[in-house]
Amino acid sequence: MDKGRNYKGIELFRVAAAFLVVAIHTSPLASYSAAADFIFTRVIARVAVPFFFMATGYFVLGGVSVRRSLKKLLIIYAAAAALYLPVNVYAGHLQSWGLLELVRQVFFEGTFYHLWYLPASILGLWLTDVLLRRLGAKRAGAAVIALYALGLLGDSYWGLIKNVHVLSSVYNGIFALMGYTRNGLFLAPIFFYLGARLRSGKKRAMGYELMGLIAGFAVMLTEALFARSRGWQRHDSMYVFLPFVMYFLFALLMRARGKVRLPLGNFSLLVYILHPAVIIAVRGAARVLGLWGLLVENSLGHYIAVCLGSAAAGAVILWLWERIKPRSASYAARAWVEVDLAALKSNAKRLQDFLPEGCELMAVLKCDAYGHGAVRSALELNRTGVRAFAVACLAEGVELRRAGVKGLILILGCTPADQWRVIRRYSLTQCAADAAYAHALSSSARGRIDVHLKIDTGMHRLGESWEHTDAIAECFSLPNLHVTGMFTHLAVSDSLEAGDVDFTEAQSRRFFSLAEELARRGIDTGALHTQASYGLLNYPDARCSYARAGVALYGVKSDGHDGVRDWPGLVPALSLRARIGLVRELPSGESVGYGREFTTARESRIAVLPIGYGDGVFRCAMHGGAEALVNGRRCPVVARICMDQLCLDVTDAGEVKPGDVATFIGRDGAEFISCEEFAAKCGTISNEVLSRLGKRLPRVYK
Ligand SMILES: *Cc1c(COP(=O)(O)O)cnc(C)c1O
Repeated sequence: MDKGRNYKGIELFRVAAAFLVVAIHTSPLASYSAAADFIFTRVIARVAVPFFFMATGYFVLGGVSVRRSLKKLLIIYAAAAALYLPVNVYAGHLQSWGLLELVRQVFFEGTFYHLWYLPASILGLWLTDVLLRRLGAKRAGAAVIALYALGLLGDSYWGLIKNVHVLSSVYNGIFALMGYTRNGLFLAPIFFYLGARLRSGKKRAMGYELMGLIAGFAVMLTEALFARSRGWQRHDSMYVFLPFVMYFLFALLMRARGKVRLPLGNFSLLVYILHPAVIIAVRGAARVLGLWGLLVENSLGHYIAVCLGSAAAGAVILWLWERIKPRSASYAARAWVEVDLAALKSNAKRLQDFLPEGCELMAVLKCDAYGHGAVRSALELNRTGVRAFAVACLAEGVELRRAGVKGLILILGCTPADQWRVIRRYSLTQCAADAAYAHALSSSARGRIDVHLKIDTGMHRLGESWEHTDAIAECFSLPNLHVTGMFTHLAVSDSLEAGDVDFTEAQSRRFFSLAEELARRGIDTGALHTQASYGLLNYPDARCSYARAGVALYGVKSDGHDGVRDWPGLVPALSLRARIGLVRELPSGESVGYGREFTTARESRIAVLPIGYGDGVFRCAMHGGAEALVNGRRCPVVARICMDQLCLDVTDAGEVKPGDVATFIGRDGAEFISCEEFAAKCGTISNEVLSRLGKRLPRVYK
């Protein structure tokens, strides 16, 4: 739910929607006018639950793992059902439930009258996810519309079929199993789907959306009043025009951006879950206080009392939870990696702006996005409009797809040909590393695999030699390959020395002359790409469809001394920090650590830190003169670096105590240690440092 904290409009509307649900169950206007009550609770308030479905669809189906959300919903459902168990027992419900009734309660009705929303969320989310993955967007769309249409006939349009014998007996069968059609099977999927589609949908003008909402609502109101006047409604949750209203409403709410500090999602969920208990409590209190007329009989008084009571109960629970909740790993962490997502996104934007027209950014996310966390980075980049990614291997590609990453995902390395099914299932694009590999892949596969052909133009690592034009041309007609692109890799694009520039230009010439020859033969070579970070910075005007940016995307150079022609405002996104475990005072002349390699030359204060070469602080960094920042001051790493610990000489760093933070990469006060500097002291380049940041370091996102 925190996913939505940047969407102020959606977060605020969650609260409004929760109070609309309370209205549905308390009929605030019933004391005044039956028609007004119908319009308020059976038409207007009907946007509330679909809104919750859409919000989940929007944030979950396109983003974090669906499985995790399903698990969370199951836990919430179990807790809510347990909360109302005493009421069910008291009312004698449980004793009377047979098996069919139990199935109906657990899978559809939610065991207590408002809780149907939870099984509906679980079933709807799961079903929509399966439909989207199995059928693709278009056919999944048709499926959810069909389900909704079937649901309508059992809801507001029941009157149309109840006298058609065949249909009504089918529906009576459905009702025996599920009670209503407003559930996870018929009602929910269309809204999850709409939420998911709005993520990738094209932007429209606000006036258009506003007109859509007003017109849609007017038509839906007419529809509802008409169905009611005809006595068609068996239930009144579903209208033909509800999905239209929801689409425009949600699109408008999405426009209001901004940080929301309060956990409004959890608050509205609590209001939702608690309000029936509050209804019971309000009745009890009204009786005791002698306020029955005001708090129960008067529908508006009742509504306000239930809203206030639910809000207060929700707020108290959240407040308590804040106090007792287990702190997430990053708070307790000994050492961690901090990733500034805003910096990452800004780098992506700047690179996109920097690239020439027609050339798209392909974000290279291999090795867990150079230590930044591939899934989180990819989802953020997706959100800023990055639509192409590269990974090193099949498992990395699958991980991204499973997390809901959209767009091209190119596997740069070789994948065993017998894994073709996995490549296809997750719509990955495989690098065909040479002609022989292309043939092997094509003959293993039973179905078309998207590939980009790799061409060797002088790097002599992967790729079919650029001179083998015929062999390359043949790859385009292999039966099970769909060649959607062709690329090469530059060996010295990071160097601006004359000989290296000549070599790079030769590589580029070879690649494009091959592409032209293939085009002359009538072959569509698809997307062409040659540059990695240094290629795009030093040779920005190659005529490419993609630029594969790795290290530059993360805002660092491989080597601090690398000259580049341009550096379009890229900023580092990653910091490496650890919390000091102990500080000890040692007299002069004492040795510290394995091998007694370091001896204090003066009375010293030595801080012991829970980070070591197992976390990516290279063992050789001690001799390289590695430092860390404490209190904004540089402190040398002393003694041999161990797997999980190392020592800093903090004698000159002022007051230092256990728990203070030491920064190995990043900023502390006015001081800054760049990744390039840290890498130099480890005797390597930034790329190696980043890709070897330990797995056990939690990634903390800012
Ligand atoms: C790793 C890699 C990249 C990205 O390299 P950077 O120098 O980090 O930008 C691009 N292309 C291929 C083929 C790679 O293996």
